[in-house]
Amino acid sequence: MQTIADYLDLDGQSTYRIIAYEKAAALFREHPISVAEMAQQGGLRRLPGVGEAIEKKVLEYVATGDIEFLARLRDRFPEGLLTVMRLPGMGPKKTKAIHEQAGVADLRDLERAAREGRLRDLPGMGAKTEENILRAIETWTAVAAGQDSGRKLRAAVEPQAIKFVEALRALPQVAAADFAGSLRRCRSTVRDMDLVVASLDPEAVMAAFATLPELARVEAQGETKLAAATYTGLNVDLRVVPPDSYGDLLQHFTGSAEHNVALRGYAQRRGYKISEYGVEPVESGRHIRCATEAEVYELVGLRYIPPELREDQGEIQAAEVGMLPDLVELPDVRGDLHVHSDWTDGRVSLEQMALAARDRGLDYLCFCDHSQSLAMTGGLSPERLMAQQAEIRALDARIEGIRLLSGIEVDILADGRLDLPDETLARLDFVTASIHSGFSQPPARIMERIVGAMRNPCVRSVAHPSGRLINRREGYEIDIDLLARVAAETGTFLEINGFPDRLDLTAQAARRAAALGARMVVCSDAHSPGDFENLRWGVGEARRGWLTKADLANTGAWESIAEKRPGH
Ligand SMILES: [Zn+2]
Ligand SMILES: [Zn+2]
Repeated sequence: MQTIADYLDLDGQSTYRIIAYEKAAALFREHPISVAEMAQQGGLRRLPGVGEAIEKKVLEYVATGDIEFLARLRDRFPEGLLTVMRLPGMGPKKTKAIHEQAGVADLRDLERAAREGRLRDLPGMGAKTEENILRAIETWTAVAAGQDSGRKLRAAVEPQAIKFVEALRALPQVAAADFAGSLRRCRSTVRDMDLVVASLDPEAVMAAFATLPELARVEAQGETKLAAATYTGLNVDLRVVPPDSYGDLLQHFTGSAEHNVALRGYAQRRGYKISEYGVEPVESGRHIRCATEAEVYELVGLRYIPPELREDQGEIQAAEVGMLPDLVELPDVRGDLHVHSDWTDGRVSLEQMALAARDRGLDYLCFCDHSQSLAMTGGLSPERLMAQQAEIRALDARIEGIRLLSGIEVDILADGRLDLPDETLARLDFVTASIHSGFSQPPARIMERIVGAMRNPCVRSVAHPSGRLINRREGYEIDIDLLARVAAETGTFLEINGFPDRLDLTAQAARRAAALGARMVVCSDAHSPGDFENLRWGVGEARRGWLTKADLANTGAWESIAEKRPGH
């Protein structure tokens, strides 16, 4: 379906049709149960946005393995052109022109043509275009390598893992069930799903599990473990142990490998052997099984280490001397300081966002829509921003139970200036500054732009400081030490953006920043009510970064952060 959408785009068809196919593609890709089966049972059109044309094509594909409509498009344009079209800066018109006039059929042709200087004479192009194309190809190749690693966003996997765990816990034979692995450690991406179950009847557990409708097939099954794949293309490993050694197995499969190696080394020095089957004091030769993970750690003289910290980044030493951080938790977050509305590219009104935030239990919410230079999003001019502020003030007076604030996500322009004049910014409750353009500047220049913004007394935080988009775009290189020092000195917060494909600052950068005295905020950057869930992913990243409640400014009341307070 995505291929059809891309072809229609290339062919210059109506956007409406293209979007219909794109939506269907996204829907099918993430659909938890078999789309083919649904189509055969005639249930496809119950899905939102699926009409007769799409249903027919799915049925044709199920029956014949191909779609004639697509075959005809493939005859007209080589499939490699679709990748060319998706390169930043290319688009359908340029791609068609390059195909027709320079004989480019795929990415490799394009690279050759650009290197040989064969594109600069085409209408609307020049030597600069060739340079940009070569750079875009380089980035694309790097990102494609990342995607090939097969890692999925945690946010796309965890909801399904929770469903599986709930289904397992509901079985009468099951004493405990959890997901383990990198998912439990809250990594931003995961390769597969590990499920761990405590039960004395593994056969019954596996038989029941294998019938779940989300599973496309069972690939292998042993006495106590089962490997399966879901319709969303995820491998699932299920392991069942008796309840008395559940802690050993859960600890082992939560990992990481590095943590487990370090833990075993530590235990060995103290005279213990740790494995997925239990803990053995070497002297006595006894075998001790642990029903909980806490017992595993306790036996060898350590405090319980939260899964997010198990990366061999100093957590074992910290656990030994009782210096583990008291990690921030989701309910600690009292306000969200970066959300959008339909005044720019958000999908719902100020009021709908406000009510959704209140339902989630937030005490305050600051609207930070885009500023004017982001024309694509309908970015706000000073006049519209003031009109929005008036509406926010009126809403705030009317809606009980949540404080509504008026802010902006102001663009840091390519030349380092802010996109709105200071006198406008000064009238707002909160200003977050961010970069959406000029990504190809030298890193030092980009740092200058950000640091310049942080020194503006109106600017309260820097949103998504590195600009990365996981699996799509590497961020620009940030000098986190510099950002952290300026953040501490000026009292500017650094954001941990909770969007599942941003999570920017990363845990590592956040930990470094906190060590240098910077304070962070975790924000959702919500564009619709469902996006408030991003706070969860953001807090996960913060926990991986060893952050406590005190490291995050928005765990405090609004009054505690309303004024900018420069440090030293
Ligand atoms: Zn942004
Ligand atoms: Zn934003």
